[in-house]
Amino acid sequence: MRKKTVIANWKMNYDFHETTSFIRNFLKFVFERKINHNKEIIIAPSFPFLHISNQILQGTTLNIAAQNIYQKDEGAYTGEVSAPMLKSIGVQKVILGHSERREFFFEKNNVLLEKIKIALKYSFNIIFCVGESSIERSNNQQFEVVKNQLKETVFHCSSDEIKFFHIAYEPVWAIGTGTTATFEQVQTMHEFIRSLFFKKYGENISNKISILYGGSINDFNAKNFFSQKDIDGGLVGKSSLELEKFLKIVES
Ligand code: PEP
Repeated sequence: MRKKTVIANWKMNYDFHETTSFIRNFLKFVFERKINHNKEIIIAPSFPFLHISNQILQGTTLNIAAQNIYQKDEGAYTGEVSAPMLKSIGVQKVILGHSERREFFFEKNNVLLEKIKIALKYSFNIIFCVGESSIERSNNQQFEVVKNQLKETVFHCSSDEIKFFHIAYEPVWAIGTGTTATFEQVQTMHEFIRSLFFKKYGENISNKISILYGGSINDFNAKNFFSQKDIDGGLVGKSSLELEKFLKIVES
């Protein structure tokens, strides 16, 4: 039985005060309202607030994740943040391959593979995002696109390394748009992704790999997504920035 996971991707939102008060209030409400979420909960704030967020979450079951890392250990890369830097403040998880990184920062699969390798070198858990654009979906290319994204990145990893991954299926047309994919579209894609893991790594790994959905999840639709057979949780953007909505999502 795969444990459900909910990840809050805060992107470039929330300053120090907003980050710390959200996390403190979230913990308070989970405790006071006895919210039985029974899920792995991960919050991905901006780089400057990872350290304080981690300190607040010490002793709880919640974790933090970085939203990116640079693909080198160290050196003259002005403005970048390395895996060992993050490791030194206790960060153990990272989101890679998000469509906003692919689109606005031109991260191609070859760079993403380098990022995967460095993240694995420092034993990070990786939430790796894949997904097709709206044009690709209208051309019925979604399966081919996702297959290639995996083939050129994650599928370069060994069976041992795959244990460090969550896969997040995030159709680009559903991210931040308010348009979600249907439960059937997502379940079908997740089943397809699982079948690719089956072919590449065998039954055991394909049964264990956690495949999350991301794309306009909210407090109304989360339950239906999370109850699909191959949907193991969600990567949540906009709705994770509102405390009451996020509480309902983790409770779903
Ligand atoms: C995301 O950016 O990963 C995401 C899923 O965003 P939203 O929930 O806002 O669509």
